[in-house]
Amino acid sequence: MPPMVPGTRLAELAAEAAGCTRCPLAATRTQVVFGVGDPGADLMFVGEAPGRDEDLQGVPFVGRSGQLLDRLLAEEVGLGREAVYIANVVKCRPPDNRDPKPDEIAACRPYLEEQVALIAPKVVVTLGNFATRLLLDTDQGITKLRGRSYPVGATQLVPTFHPAAALRGGGVVLAQMRADLVRAKQLTGRTP
Ligand code: SF4
Repeated sequence: MPPMVPGTRLAELAAEAAGCTRCPLAATRTQVVFGVGDPGADLMFVGEAPGRDEDLQGVPFVGRSGQLLDRLLAEEVGLGREAVYIANVVKCRPPDNRDPKPDEIAACRPYLEEQVALIAPKVVVTLGNFATRLLLDTDQGITKLRGRSYPVGATQLVPTFHPAAALRGGGVVLAQMRADLVRAKQLTGRTP
């Protein structure tokens, strides 16, 4: 993946996050999982929180969910993960992979908001309820929200399921994720 350029604000932000103690997740993480990918990407993915594999490796979406995301990205968008940017709502792993708590999300939110502002992607794909609700500022669920795009500033937001839901839910969820990624691809202006 293209390295983050030293001296840029994104690199500074990553360095700030690496020592962050703004919320209780700092006490239980192995390391902060800030985000990876191309800082100039047109397409950005936002998930929920690091899991065990991510916490150990310091990279988002490297477990089974990540492998599915990589496959869908290749098959539906024609891109490898190095060509997009991938981050999470919270940067530290919640113990036992529990859901992130509202105070943790609120504490971590400025990192994500600045990442989105600095990367300025054409399209943000939110993976699951936590990312979608945060970035769309809504209480509605992903099942209701997916299937269309939403303008947020200069960015189009495309909500879809978290890959873990597709791993659990099987073919129907997977087909809907595929359709959402095709929508995201079209919005970036990429042609087949
Ligand atoms: S989850 Fe976010 S706010 Fe909490 S300690 Fe980690 S980086 Fe800081």
